[in-house]
Amino acid sequence: MTLVLSVVIPVYNEEQGLQALFDRLYPALDALQTPYEVVFINDGSRDRSPALLRQQFEKRPDVTRVVLLNGNFGQHMAIMAGFEHARGARIVTLDADLQNPPEEIAKLMAAMDAGHDYVGTIRQDRQDTSWRRWASRLMNHLRERITRIHMTDQGCMLRAYDRHIVQAITSCREVNTFIPALAYTFASRPTEVEVRHEERVAGESKYSLYSLVRLNFDLVTGFSVVPLQLFSLLGILLSLVSGLFVVYLVLRRLILGPEAEGVFTLFAITFFLISILLFGIGLLGEYVGRIYQQVRERPRFLIDAILEAPADPEHS
Ligand code: UDP
Ligand code: MG
Repeated sequence: MTLVLSVVIPVYNEEQGLQALFDRLYPALDALQTPYEVVFINDGSRDRSPALLRQQFEKRPDVTRVVLLNGNFGQHMAIMAGFEHARGARIVTLDADLQNPPEEIAKLMAAMDAGHDYVGTIRQDRQDTSWRRWASRLMNHLRERITRIHMTDQGCMLRAYDRHIVQAITSCREVNTFIPALAYTFASRPTEVEVRHEERVAGESKYSLYSLVRLNFDLVTGFSVVPLQLFSLLGILLSLVSGLFVVYLVLRRLILGPEAEGVFTLFAITFFLISILLFGIGLLGEYVGRIYQQVRERPRFLIDAILEAPADPEHS
């Protein structure tokens, strides 16, 4: 029996909500009537979450697997660990807080049956504080402009990935990343479906303003070198302007003689040097950007299929 579905769930200090999650998740998955597994990743919780996960594992060992990380590595790294251990042909990520109802997984599976290899989600009337919604909208806008990634709702983690996408993701060696965006770059037939969104059943959001900012920073810098290139563009622009200014000041020096006891000439030289400096930093940025892209070791391409005649056994 081949495993069709792996559900990957990162867990960080969720003791208050875990039982409610188990009570809804397993019936919803049983109802799908496909072979499935649930992979929980304990992201270094300091509460009773690991114990609860262990209990659940003992209750349903046939369909439950638990990965215990030895520290808190963040939601996306926890999911990455889950990906490395998931064995299903399709992998669904879900938050532990029941904000995305597990019953919606059926909808994602239907979209995959229709031939999509990546199913994103859009939250219907999102139940989060207004500043969170506002900040998301702003980030969405920025991301659309400087990367090639299109996601209507980047924050929703209930998503389904085909196995080959998950393999591509786990083969990337980068440390800070944003999984839905990385998956998107590898998807050939992405789609999005609408899912319900509910309030957290228990506990509180694990994201402070600071970690949200960090996460979005990862999203931008991980998928675009535009921020680095901005510097070199600025450098080129400033060098041009300051070059003209220097010429102007030198001409004045030659025609009108020294002004303000040579201070202007000194300025001309200083401007010129500063602009060279800026340009140099920008140039460095370009190279650093390239090194950065190189060290991430993302696969350069993914092959869908190769059409070729089977190798001739006599000549091989
Ligand atoms: N999470 C995690 N490690 C962390 C922070 C969060 O594994 O360092 C998990 C958390 O247990 C939950 C999911 O990631 O399952 C999403 O977290 P949360 O609901 O707090 O985020 P929000 O819904 O507020 O964006
Ligand atoms: Mg949540």
